[in-house]
Amino acid sequence: MNQRLTNMSEWMYQNQVDISIITSTENVFYLSGFYSDPHERLLALAVFQQEEPILICPAMEKEDAKASGWSYEIIGYSDVENPWEMVRKAIDKRVNNVSKLAVEKEHMNVERYEALSELFPKAAFISAEENLRKLRMIKDEKEISKIREACALADYAVEVGCSEIKEGKTELEILAVIEYELKKKGITKMSFDTMVLTGANGASPHGTPGLTKVKKGDFVLFDLGVVVDGYCSDITRTVAYGEINEKQKEIYDTVLKAQLAAIDASKPGASCSEVDLTARNIIREAGYGEYFPHRLGHGLGIGVHEYPSLTETNPLMLESGMVYTIEPGIYVPNTAGVRIEDDVFVTANGVEILTQFPKELQIIK
Ligand code: MN
Ligand code: MN
Repeated sequence: MNQRLTNMSEWMYQNQVDISIITSTENVFYLSGFYSDPHERLLALAVFQQEEPILICPAMEKEDAKASGWSYEIIGYSDVENPWEMVRKAIDKRVNNVSKLAVEKEHMNVERYEALSELFPKAAFISAEENLRKLRMIKDEKEISKIREACALADYAVEVGCSEIKEGKTELEILAVIEYELKKKGITKMSFDTMVLTGANGASPHGTPGLTKVKKGDFVLFDLGVVVDGYCSDITRTVAYGEINEKQKEIYDTVLKAQLAAIDASKPGASCSEVDLTARNIIREAGYGEYFPHRLGHGLGIGVHEYPSLTETNPLMLESGMVYTIEPGIYVPNTAGVRIEDDVFVTANGVEILTQFPKELQIIK
């Protein structure tokens, strides 16, 4: 078995878990190497302490699963078969007494929980999520190289976006060119819906791009990410279109100062809260504390939001191998919104910054 499945089985042994039934696209991919989004159909990976794992997927995806390198049993079910019955039969061949079952409690829906409860009426259900989050938090070299590639493409995407900024262009027009250029490079998926925001829209941390036109004197904020072989990047850059006023400059400089300080504070042994507060205190001292309403950053990898979570209260220590974002922002309604986000990788004595697009204020003429 691969190292990830071995780690999972080890955790199951320590916690006396008889079977883990993993059903989220991300965790099935992490453990099996097979990436599938089967929509409402069931995708599941059954993991045992000793026995070989089983992959359960729609019959039409069986060949894709084999092609992905999965070499253990695959149960492919048709649209007229009950996958749970087939799962039960396959499990019966491996274990008899199921008293503890691990599932992703946050992901599993009630219907599936009821189906599993009927199959294993005596089993207690525990959460597999916390353990998987911890396993996924430390990246191996292959994962880092994919994230690195995804970050380089995110840099390129911002570059394309900046070159598209022209008087009268809408947020959506610029967004469309960015994604078109990435598709030409073979990118099929973005980490999340690309954000191009300008004017008052940029002052909302989770704004929605629309028909607002760029105009001189406004910021344009890009927040986007690219998926490479199942791994995400996530970058934000805020650039000025034409000359901006002193207030806008002050906001930009404050965010940049906070972002650079948080990068400096990032090293193995520093806590997530320490790093968050390093940036937050700079923003507070500049008088913008109330306009920085979100955490400093989040882990990323297969998921665009993973562990660790960089909040001002998380005592978790940074460790080498973690990958996370550093993305302070200041959003003053009707005035300006600035966020600067990099993806960093914790090394033995600091961090390597994976997103490289320039951060000094860019003024697009
Ligand atoms: Mn982002
Ligand atoms: Mn982010």
